[in-house]
Amino acid sequence: MGRDPRFDILFDPVKIGPVTTKNRFYQVPHCNGMGYRDPTAHATMRSIKAEGGWGVVCTEQVEIHPTGDIAPFIELRNWSDEDVPALARIADAIHSRDALAGLQLAHNGMNAPNLYSREIPFGPADLPVFSIYNDPVQARAMDKTDIRNLRHWHRSAALRSKKAGYDLTYVYAGKLFGGAMFFLSRRYNQRTDEYGGSLENRCRLLKELIEDTKDAVGDTMAVACRISVDELLGEEGLHAAEAQDIIGHLAEIPDLWDLTLSSWDNDSQTSRFADEGYQEPFVTGIKKLTSKPVVGVGRFTSPDTMVRMVRQGILDLIGAARPSIADPFLPKKIEEGRTEDIRECIGCNICVSGDHTTTPIRCTQNPSMGEEWRRGWHPEYIRPKESDSKVLIVGAGPAGLEAAMMLGRRGYEVVLSEATRNLGGRLVGERALPGLSAWGRVVDYRVGQLQSMPNVQIYRESPLTSDDILAFGFEHVAIATGSRWRADGVGRRLLRPIPLTDQDVLTPDDLMAGHRPKKDPVVIIDDDHYYMGGVLAELLVREGRKVVLVTPTAEVSSWMEMTMEQHRVQARLLELDVEIVPHRLPVQATGDELTLACVYTGRTFTRPIGSLVLVTARLPEKNLAEELAARRAEWGDTALKSVTRIGDALAPGTIAAAVWSGRRYAEELDAPERSLDELPFLREVAGLHSGALPWQARS
Ligand code: ADP
Ligand code: SF4
Repeated sequence: MGRDPRFDILFDPVKIGPVTTKNRFYQVPHCNGMGYRDPTAHATMRSIKAEGGWGVVCTEQVEIHPTGDIAPFIELRNWSDEDVPALARIADAIHSRDALAGLQLAHNGMNAPNLYSREIPFGPADLPVFSIYNDPVQARAMDKTDIRNLRHWHRSAALRSKKAGYDLTYVYAGKLFGGAMFFLSRRYNQRTDEYGGSLENRCRLLKELIEDTKDAVGDTMAVACRISVDELLGEEGLHAAEAQDIIGHLAEIPDLWDLTLSSWDNDSQTSRFADEGYQEPFVTGIKKLTSKPVVGVGRFTSPDTMVRMVRQGILDLIGAARPSIADPFLPKKIEEGRTEDIRECIGCNICVSGDHTTTPIRCTQNPSMGEEWRRGWHPEYIRPKESDSKVLIVGAGPAGLEAAMMLGRRGYEVVLSEATRNLGGRLVGERALPGLSAWGRVVDYRVGQLQSMPNVQIYRESPLTSDDILAFGFEHVAIATGSRWRADGVGRRLLRPIPLTDQDVLTPDDLMAGHRPKKDPVVIIDDDHYYMGGVLAELLVREGRKVVLVTPTAEVSSWMEMTMEQHRVQARLLELDVEIVPHRLPVQATGDELTLACVYTGRTFTRPIGSLVLVTARLPEKNLAEELAARRAEWGDTALKSVTRIGDALAPGTIAAAVWSGRRYAEELDAPERSLDELPFLREVAGLHSGALPWQARS
């Protein structure tokens, strides 16, 4: 089936300076937690984006010099010629699939604490660095020599990008990552020389960097400028009108304008807090200021929205980071008229957590993300079946659905059996919680795919027992029976049950099943620290309940720093008048009194309580697997060869982890057995340097 002519405009070529992209699909720079440490894995990940039809595929921000080192985060480096082979590997991989390769040069200025290099950071002013961990590091105000040096390093890095084979490079002035943005900012730049004060002066460094880069490589490479169009800080920050003045001032100097909101948490908002295309009001009107092409993002997954962006003259190029992570083949699916096959991003920012934890990128929707090279997983293809075995999957949550879909693609005969009427497991309840409806795409995509697979049968309302399974005659059984929330308070910090007397206690499962606390105030004990505690508080308050959230940490949902949502959750709960009680753990609860202890001093406090909601930990539903294991002797009379727990039934975790576990099961079925000493994935080990150090030369 060919593409819908409505979408033809998305496949127009667009000229960007001296190069031309074959279509309007533009994978904007995005971090991936692999950077300089995992260059081949990185190259393979980018090549798959190119294979999936993106016209331009960019790297993440690439450090140009040790004075702009953002350790502990792992990005690419372009510090010297030694970095060129790794950079070239990525460019070559992108070119091999017929896309333009872009490299985002970045000197992070006052965002870089230089923890690795121990160089003194610099920027427009003598101020503490703007870094995620509030590092005790101050930047120094740059003098004219520093500015000259920075321009030299940027130019040298641009030349190395050219040597590495890139088609497009960047000057970065966005998100308070690109150092030039600190000069644009009235907050940071209070200089009195020609680099501060008037808008023209504050733009001077950015202008010089763009001109230097064009002068160095602009004959063959496009030079993009990535710039923030608003910091969402009102008049205090860089705001829309000011950003438009800046872009108007520099209008024709770069070959492309790449628009972002600042800082990153505003640019990459989650679906819980912002809809697809939420940047539209900030990017509308920019195209009138310049004749150069404009790219912007918006978690775009709908081709109709993309077409509208182009037709209404808002954007020339459809930028995407997360939609390209969730579905590297998004352009190809539109081109081939298979829009129903698009694996839409759910806006959960698990991908961002890879960068923040300095581990390879992962994605809830696309379990192959980050595993393309090291495990050989591809987002669209999987090797055909290697036997005529029949596979039973018990439980249709994220793990079971993914396993069934991928085994179905391999060509196995698969039966997916679900105890309840609904497919989706934990997501049946979770997608109905406030702000989480887009998470249902994990289920909808997989159920949609399964419906067209004649070799996969789905049985609903079919709770299975070990007797059933031993009677059926499947060779392989995956137990994807999920988990249940604990009702005793045991969790991360509390390792013994909370003594409870005459207490109305509910778990998240109870609330999702429709049960409600008997009495206010409802006290939620959150020892889970991800979304569930905060979301349930929101649910109950919106139903008119009085809610108190108790946590041993300083902040609610503290792990959500990793998804850049923590501050939004905290603000929302405060706005909803949820009483937040930090640094406390429960000691005991009776019908109307709760005793809490301070996590620092151990001092105890009592407070009135109506009902208790425990969000602490989950237990795997493993009875079925254990029963089958206990009946091992009976397998001989049947075809059964393996019983494997997957997803939450193995160990409760994120939805991303459950999907990944389902994929792993499908990948490893019938694979040659690995020896215990064989690593489960490939890795790249750093080459060792040789040569004497000066102090070793002493006789
Ligand atoms: P995961 O996140 O690992 O996919 P979920 O908890 O989301 O796990 O889903 C588990 C699913 O398994 C639920 O839909 C549940 O109804 C189903 N299930 C649990 N036990 C059985 C069983 N014995 N037979 C069939 N389905 C089951
Ligand atoms: Fe989208 Fe979540 Fe995947 Fe990130 S992890 S690309 S937000 S689905």
